[in-house]
Amino acid sequence: MNKETNETNVPCEVTAKKVVGILPCSGACNVGMVTTKCVTQLAQKNDNINFVCALGLPLGIEGIVKNAKKSEYYIALNGCNVGCASKALKSINIQPDVEISVTDDIGIKKNKNYFDENGLAELEDKVNSIINRIK
Ligand code: SF4
Repeated sequence: MNKETNETNVPCEVTAKKVVGILPCSGACNVGMVTTKCVTQLAQKNDNINFVCALGLPLGIEGIVKNAKKSEYYIALNGCNVGCASKALKSINIQPDVEISVTDDIGIKKNKNYFDENGLAELEDKVNSIINRIK
């Protein structure tokens, strides 16, 4: 934590942004694809996003597990209520701080159109507001 002074020269704490680990389920359907698209968009705009490869966690891929554990806050993005991203995180004994389901929380029906981006903007807004709250 850095110390700085404000306009009145009173020392104040400057807190570094928390590293936010976001796991998309990356499922083979519209809502799964939307989770991946959401993380890629947010990771481009925020330097404190740790894009975690969810599949590597239950497989015990050392580098991916190590990378995931660098995060200080975890958001699991699930396409549907099967909750694969949440389960992947729990498989390495990390409880997600926030779990989102695109079907349940945004109200998008699952289909096989991988280019269907319905719900993407809403999901981005939802995750953005969480990221802004925890900075
Ligand atoms: S959470 Fe749903 S959409 Fe995502 S991978 Fe699992 S079953 Fe597929």
